[in-house]
Amino acid sequence: MAKVKGDIIIDIEKCKGCELCIEACPQGSLETSRKVNNKGYLYIVKVEDTCTGCTNCALVCPEGGITVYRKTEKGKEQIAKISNVTKDMELKVN
Ligand code: SF4
Ligand code: SF4
Repeated sequence: MAKVKGDIIIDIEKCKGCELCIEACPQGSLETSRKVNNKGYLYIVKVEDTCTGCTNCALVCPEGGITVYRKTEKGKEQIAKISNVTKDMELKVN
């Protein structure tokens, strides 16, 4: 079976540099940048093209700052964006 390719977009202005996403990423795709955002936090960047689109990083991000995509034959498909969670939530990933 072909390996699933994923991708993420990080809203760096939402990031507070907590590094939860780094800990949650099984692929070692994320690292802390050496630059700060407008709030003065060292934000997160993707450093390796190893993302599988597992959604772990988006699930743990307390700021809802990560959007996850999976690459398909048709192009890029958004599969997870989590923001403003105030109640229990259910996430289904196909
Ligand atoms: S979606 Fe999964 S593999 Fe991709 S960066 Fe986030 S935690 Fe890592
Ligand atoms: S989990 Fe969210 S807020 Fe924390 S470092 Fe990662 S992107 Fe930034």
